[in-house]
Amino acid sequence: LFITLEGPEGAGKSTQIELLNKYFSEQGYEVVQTREPGGTEIGSRIRNILLDSNLDNLEPKTELLLYAASRAQHVNEVIKPALKEGKVIICDRFSDATLAYQGYGRRLDKDLILKLNQMATGGLEPDLTFLLDIEPEEGLLRTKNEVRDRIEREDLSFHQQVRDGYLKLAEKKSRFEVIDGSQSIENIFDNLIETLEERLEL
Ligand code: C5P
Repeated sequence: LFITLEGPEGAGKSTQIELLNKYFSEQGYEVVQTREPGGTEIGSRIRNILLDSNLDNLEPKTELLLYAASRAQHVNEVIKPALKEGKVIICDRFSDATLAYQGYGRRLDKDLILKLNQMATGGLEPDLTFLLDIEPEEGLLRTKNEVRDRIEREDLSFHQQVRDGYLKLAEKKSRFEVIDGSQSIENIFDNLIETLEERLEL
């Protein structure tokens, strides 16, 4: 079972991922919690380049290729083997993030991104994707006290495009479940569990 969580900055993905991990583990599933960019040693090094706030001249095309590179490593080293072993994989961002950020946010060619995603994943898609949706103003306020990465410094309109992009993706693909990320942690988690019960009969 392959579940991904997506959403704009400050939507609360990490908190919900911890809760989901606990939930599945308590039910006796073997859980692999992972994230993009990152998830492997090579991916973490790529992540360091991507999020380094001192690197303000990273070319959008370079950025796109680094995300694809991190994903190719991640799918082959972590996700595919774990799926084979019947584990539950909970992944913080995946291919959809590249469409939202580099496609809708940076306005790079979406067909090209689809091809790169296809190459990196070998066509692997999540079984279920939670989009924790939040207005960028509210999300960015939540992250204000954390260390800021390169992307968080983009202007509001960039983050709005990312959010709108995510919502468009969610309309197109039935594996998406859109959750209102402005709710309390408990309510969001209740929504996630309801969805799991309905969609996967867990
Ligand atoms: O999910 P997390 O907040 O850890 O993501 C790290 C950063 O990478 C965020 O600022 C996110 O917006 C950015 N990102 C991106 N393009 C992607 C995936 C993540 O700009 N394809």
